[in-house]
Amino acid sequence: MDEKFDVAIVGLGPAGSSLAYFLRKSGLRVVGLDLVDWDGIWGKPCGDAIGKHHFEETGLPTPKGEALRNFVKGIDIYSPSEEIRLRVEGEGYIINRNAYGRYLLEEAVSGGVEVRLRSFVVKPLFTNGRLAGVEYKDLRSGEKKTVKANVVVDATGTSQVIRRKLPRDWPAHELLKDVDANLAYRRIVDLDREIEDYQYIRIYVNQDIAPGGYWWYFPEGPTSVNVGLGVQHGRGYPHPKKIFEEKILPRKELQRIVRVKSDAGALVPTRRPANTLAWDNFLGIGDNGFTVNPIHGGGMGYAMTAAYYSAKRIVEAAEKGDYSARGPLWMVNIDYNRHIGAKQASLDIFRIYLQTVSNDVIEWGLRAGIVDAAKAYNISSEGELEVEPSVFDKLGLVVRNITALRRLLQLRMVASYMRDVKRLYLEYPESPDELAGWVQRVESLYAEFKNKLGINW
Ligand SMILES: Cc1cc2nc3c(=O)[nH]c(=O)nc-3n(C[C@H](O)[C@H](O)[C@H](O)COP(=O)(O)OP(=O)(O)OC[C@H]3O[C@@H](n4cnc5c(N)ncnc54)[C@H](O)[C@@H]3O)c2cc1C
Repeated sequence: MDEKFDVAIVGLGPAGSSLAYFLRKSGLRVVGLDLVDWDGIWGKPCGDAIGKHHFEETGLPTPKGEALRNFVKGIDIYSPSEEIRLRVEGEGYIINRNAYGRYLLEEAVSGGVEVRLRSFVVKPLFTNGRLAGVEYKDLRSGEKKTVKANVVVDATGTSQVIRRKLPRDWPAHELLKDVDANLAYRRIVDLDREIEDYQYIRIYVNQDIAPGGYWWYFPEGPTSVNVGLGVQHGRGYPHPKKIFEEKILPRKELQRIVRVKSDAGALVPTRRPANTLAWDNFLGIGDNGFTVNPIHGGGMGYAMTAAYYSAKRIVEAAEKGDYSARGPLWMVNIDYNRHIGAKQASLDIFRIYLQTVSNDVIEWGLRAGIVDAAKAYNISSEGELEVEPSVFDKLGLVVRNITALRRLLQLRMVASYMRDVKRLYLEYPESPDELAGWVQRVESLYAEFKNKLGINW
């Protein structure tokens, strides 16, 4: 006989386990399924860096003890020549993902959530055309099993296990395109010496090393570091592991490695949030709904935020007995896009622009102060790029240079599209009936923008 739950959470990474944590003690019958065992929880390879503000905004417990590897004071961003360094102050953590994820899940289990690990979810189940549960394989016994639920939450990351198997005419059936993702690879190593300024994580913007992305050097502590890179997928660039070995490993910052602790890669979505995170009896959050920062690819904090809003609206849906897209589940879109998604959509425009420019342009922008530490912070936290008229005056001499003038005008155009898409996301439709029209407006804006940049991908 089918087991009936209020909520089935598929995937217990940052999105799914945060949701399980928020729904503990809700009184709802919640089941969480993941194919991994306890030691594989939150096992996706990652830079492991997360801003403190995510915990303050969601109320999730801050990482402590075994879950905390390094306390971060800020980020140093390096220009391609590495002659310019922007120091952006801001507190955060390098976490031990497995320890933190396990903690959240153990708390969820104590609060009444049922967790089934080693459960490989195969497909969604439908009853009279409505999403009604999932089928999974119990990897311990090899048995095929099912659970029924009023809402199925797809938190399976980029595998999009449920989302991709929804009927094609459901707007939630939206897949990640290669060019809207980075293929990332990272290694965690111990060095035989202390890392200078180890409480500042480093980002190196360099299109020759990491085309369409960046490479990072995130100390996990005084002598251990997580180093990796992301490369735009689908453009024929070399595999990031190959680049890592040829261009990053020989660098002085990585000399005298005494131990390689981990070595792996995966996809990172780098695009605006999905057209919808909700549909009838469905939510899709975290990497699954592309709730990431398109510029730096950080997705843990936004997966947590999406889970936070989802928990609130699931409780409301249960109270009203309405799990349809017209009910409280729809509000997850509005909550998320007003607070976070609008900014992310704007950053997606900036990401696309950055993926078209050379190291020379990036170096020039940083050297000329078009982007300084305060602006870098503003771009990342607000999704706003200001190219004030005063920049043209300040750079009077440079502007007489036709190349510089062209670059400035192009940046102003980018800033204007960033504002337009942000506005559209702030006006996210109040009801699913208006979704198709809104999607059309977003897509035309993107097409127009890409056309102006001469992009055909
Ligand atoms: C190399 C790299 C570096 C990164 N660095 C950072 C960083 O420094 N900071 C940051 O914030 N983000 C970073 N990210 C992004 C971050 O890792 C993701 O955004 C985050 O893990 C997304 O969480 P999620 O819960 O949505 O998905 P995931 O972490 O992918 O979790 C999905 C879960 O679903 C489970 N699952 C999948 N398929 C099935 C199935 N069929 N049945 C059952 N379970 C299933 C998986 O086992 C997994 O537990 C990085 C990503 C990469 C690849």
